[in-house]
Amino acid sequence: MTTVIHLFHRDLRLEDNVALRKAVEFGNTVIPLYIHDAEVLGGVGEGQASLWWLHNSLTELDKDLRDHGSRLILRRGSRLRELLRIIEETGSKAVFFNRRYVPWLDNQDSTIARELGIPYKRFRGYLLFEPEAIKTKTGTPFRVFTPFYKACLAGMTLYPPAPKPLKIPPPRKWPRSDSLHDWGFLPSFPDWSSGLRENWKPGEAGAKESIQSFSKVVGNYQNDRDRPDLTGTSRLSPHLHFGEISPLSCWNYFLDKPESEGKTAFLRELIWREFSYHLLVQYPDMAHEPLQKKFKKFPWREDKTMLSAWERGETGYPIVDAGMRQMWETGWMHNRVRMVVASFLIKHLLLDWRSGHDWFWDTLVDADPANNSASWQWVAGCGADAAPFFRIFNPMAQGSKFDPKGDYVRRWIPEIGQLSSKYIHQPWLAPRMVLEDAGIKLGLDYPRPIVDHKVARERALDSLASIKGA
Ligand SMILES: Cc1cc2nc3c(=O)[nH]c(=O)nc-3n(C[C@H](O)[C@H](O)[C@H](O)COP(=O)(O)OP(=O)(O)OC[C@H]3O[C@@H](n4cnc5c(N)ncnc54)[C@H](O)[C@@H]3O)c2cc1C
Repeated sequence: MTTVIHLFHRDLRLEDNVALRKAVEFGNTVIPLYIHDAEVLGGVGEGQASLWWLHNSLTELDKDLRDHGSRLILRRGSRLRELLRIIEETGSKAVFFNRRYVPWLDNQDSTIARELGIPYKRFRGYLLFEPEAIKTKTGTPFRVFTPFYKACLAGMTLYPPAPKPLKIPPPRKWPRSDSLHDWGFLPSFPDWSSGLRENWKPGEAGAKESIQSFSKVVGNYQNDRDRPDLTGTSRLSPHLHFGEISPLSCWNYFLDKPESEGKTAFLRELIWREFSYHLLVQYPDMAHEPLQKKFKKFPWREDKTMLSAWERGETGYPIVDAGMRQMWETGWMHNRVRMVVASFLIKHLLLDWRSGHDWFWDTLVDADPANNSASWQWVAGCGADAAPFFRIFNPMAQGSKFDPKGDYVRRWIPEIGQLSSKYIHQPWLAPRMVLEDAGIKLGLDYPRPIVDHKVARERALDSLASIKGA
């Protein structure tokens, strides 16, 4: 009787799980195992919102495994040490897992492969392409998205996702498992997770529901994706991050759907995700170090009061505050608004992009080592193929263009909800009578702007000029 361990990480699903499928084919019996690594982001563990998700996702995975005749074994601590213990307890003959693309975790797996003493087999993980497989004509990695995208499309070999195993044969005797509740991933005093519970369904079934409902609106994605007041995007990001659905399953799901600009635009976003990992593999320090070296000299300010106003959604700029409050309550923020709030922190407040990155890391349910740092560097203008620093979002114009009636702002900042669309993105311009009629005392019910847009813009451009020759 051969027992194989399947080691889960960011592949918390049964469908299109290549390593699990192979383990079932290879082993007579399979031990599904999750080992919690304390360090996922260069010395840092998951943020609070991600832990909430992880708890629920592992719970769902365990239920799905039980429906397939198996269960999930949980362990915490050093991956190598726990594997060695379980191998000794069970006499397992091999460990199968899907590749982890975060460079330091991938390196850790190479070390484990040398030290484990039994085969430690890596399969394709949570990307469409192995990051090293996509190269320029001269054999170097890409730094610019569009040619990377074209190379991906040219190199795309479509194969069907691996089907769910019908049954996962259990071992005769299960090894010891930790209790998930003892890991303390759920917030208790206070329990701030009600907004997360109302908005999300972690797990493979939840991912399926998200893609199914998104498929009804995908045709309009190219227009609606920029509108935070509409449900125009897939909201698949946490599901993709935790591997509750694979990008290959997403891609295949839309293959036989009618061609549309929306579908093409959506599939292109999946390639942005690939690009972030392509960059992370090239620049493992991307969460901490600007990819453009001259930005090391950027004169960031330090201002805890301003940082805290931004974090709490109290900057006085409604579109910024609405986004920050949406993220605080639901663990997610619309992409357009992520760009606006990030630009505001970096350019209006001149605060280091890394402080925003860290806040997102702790607060987002989709906080991802590659997407988060690549996107922050993109907005800060210091990344590969980034938006130039001098392109500074005007929060009022962004609000009026992408939330034209102000519905998004009203949803997240009810205290100014009575303002008309003319003033909803700039309440400080509303005449006193209008504010009175709307029941708003500016500075009391809702803050006045913490910086002046024009002054802040000039200051940001001066700061950029100061590193020009660096
Ligand atoms: C400052 C900032 C920080 C961000 N941090 C994260 C993060 O930690 N985790 C994360 O998954 N995304 C991050 N993004 C990218 C993007 O905002 C989210 O992926 C998107 O909003 C998720 O919503 P959705 O699933 O409805 O996206 P959709 O528009 O439906 O896109 C589908 C999928 O494509 C991928 N995708 C979409 N946009 C991007 C992008 N710009 N870069 C890379 N992949 C993308 C995501 O996996 C997403 O789920 C960040 C963007 C910014 C500007």
